[in-house]
Amino acid sequence: MILVLEKGITPDQKSNIRRTLLKKGLIVREISEEGQSIIGAIGKGNQDADFFQQLPGVAEVIPISKSFKLVSRELHADDTCVPVGDVMIGGERITVIAGPCAVESRDQALTIAREVRKYGAVLFRGGAFKPRTSPYSFQGLEEEGLKILAEVREEVGLGVVTEITSPTQADIMMKYVDVVQIGARNMQNFELLKCVGRMGKPVFLKRGLSATIEEWLMSAEYILAEGNDNVILCERGIRTFEPYTRNTLDLSAIPVIKKLTHLPVIIDPSHATGLREKVAPMSRAAIAAGADGLMIEVHHEPDKALSDGAQSLYPQQFGQLMRDLYVIAPVVGKQLDFSYLDKAKAVDRLNKAKGTDKQRVAFLGEMGTFSHKACEQYFGEKVEPVPISSFRKIFESVKRGEVDFGVLPLENSLTGSIHENYDLLLEYDLKIIGEITLRIMHHLIVRPGVTLDTITRVFSHPQVFEQCRQFLERHDDWELVSVKDTAKAVKQICESDRLNEAAIANKVAAEIYKMEVIEEGVETDPRNYTRFVIIGTEQLEKGPCQKSSLIYSTGNRPGALFESLKIFSENGINLVKLESRPIPGKPWEYMFYVDLEADVESDTFKPILAALVEKTDYLKILGSY
Ligand code: PEP
Ligand code: MN
Repeated sequence: MILVLEKGITPDQKSNIRRTLLKKGLIVREISEEGQSIIGAIGKGNQDADFFQQLPGVAEVIPISKSFKLVSRELHADDTCVPVGDVMIGGERITVIAGPCAVESRDQALTIAREVRKYGAVLFRGGAFKPRTSPYSFQGLEEEGLKILAEVREEVGLGVVTEITSPTQADIMMKYVDVVQIGARNMQNFELLKCVGRMGKPVFLKRGLSATIEEWLMSAEYILAEGNDNVILCERGIRTFEPYTRNTLDLSAIPVIKKLTHLPVIIDPSHATGLREKVAPMSRAAIAAGADGLMIEVHHEPDKALSDGAQSLYPQQFGQLMRDLYVIAPVVGKQLDFSYLDKAKAVDRLNKAKGTDKQRVAFLGEMGTFSHKACEQYFGEKVEPVPISSFRKIFESVKRGEVDFGVLPLENSLTGSIHENYDLLLEYDLKIIGEITLRIMHHLIVRPGVTLDTITRVFSHPQVFEQCRQFLERHDDWELVSVKDTAKAVKQICESDRLNEAAIANKVAAEIYKMEVIEEGVETDPRNYTRFVIIGTEQLEKGPCQKSSLIYSTGNRPGALFESLKIFSENGINLVKLESRPIPGKPWEYMFYVDLEADVESDTFKPILAALVEKTDYLKILGSY
């Protein structure tokens, strides 16, 4: 059952409630969501709702209708993110775990680990204790394999995941690995589940060969009931009558799981299909269906693999798949970040150097704006997002060191550049140190009960009105009221009691203010993306950059622009953006804004830069990233 606590509950009342529940033999979990405190009380003990309702400080008692309790969304509405070192499994970043089926040797593990890390995997997998169908097949290197995994963590910097097949392995697992996997064959090995529950390390729980979703969640419940909430579910195919694939991948489990539980879900397309060529299509589908990540078998010499070679991707195939996933993720509101681990390390380094707890990152508007989302997806949980009311103030705050970085929208695929920010980039001496692209979906949001036909006034940002022009033309009697950001628009309708108002904003803002979406996706073109850049005084991480942004002007003479562009052409450098902007105070003179696929601050670029300086009157490097 769920005990909703009164807002003004005293610490004494709370500990009295806890004591009473524990005395009745119940498992107690305290959860605080959106300012509301609740206590989950689970177990075999007496759960007489009337009795608990009487306790001072209890506002309401709600029974949990499902047989699984601690894993249920009824108890825990927000998504759980499972931390594994610098990696957060769940939330808005895609986690890819990759590696061989089994650790075969030190060389094999290190070679594959380096490859998969290079392509963006954030955790390494590899079995040391292999539960094989035949007792005559390779059974794994056992403790020797675990030692190799620990070496991979040290040498390559990837956290390691491996399967535990017996409670007797608990001690060595504690010593060497970061995540323990419960294999499909052991999903209902209840002693093992209790054991990993007590170990406290994150648990990667595979779905059994023929387990229902309910049975799978009950297995997760065993782990949580022991006090370990860090469980990651993994769908790896179930046994059906179909022999063309090793198993049948149940992708429909993803939305079911997302509704029933707060735990993250990862898809294993390798064991699901058993065939290399089927792995990439199923991986792409899994991300599109809302999975939090993937576990993929990769081997540099799959023909020589001691197990599951036929389903293992070559490293390069894995790399190509990662590029596809990078493109797909923003479509479903997520990110696959190739520099996830380096970024986390860099943020830690900066914290240490500055003696701070968390780097502060400024963004425009309030919590729930797209800028806020860009900040979270770029940096993860390791920074403190700081809402600021104007773009200029963001530049000022970064310049004065009040915040460490700023997040700025720079261009939108439907409406073009956000010129104010380009002008500010010209004016301030700050650097672009990174970029992130978000798919922008806009929704028509109202107070609960308001319908489309009663709306006469709509609040949003002017850029948003522009992106939703076709939808708004169908309602040309609506008054459009511009506000500073989309979250403010939702706040506005939330705080007014008028029934004729609506806002256009994203879903998160609607959720924050408990408003209702009555029309989804009202942007004119669904391929609506905004590119955000991160500004700062210094690079987050030193290393090779793929892209750079420049601003320059040329003299007003025939062929001046052509001569500058010729330098890029002759050096085989691809331009991905070229735009001109009037120079303030100099009528009919222009600055050129150029993005190119090169690291202009690298040594190899030096001669090219020198040639460019010669052909330009003014040149400013906005940054390489
Ligand atoms: C594995 O991940 O190597 C494995 C044995 O998987 P499963 O338990 O899903 O068969
Ligand atoms: Mn395998």
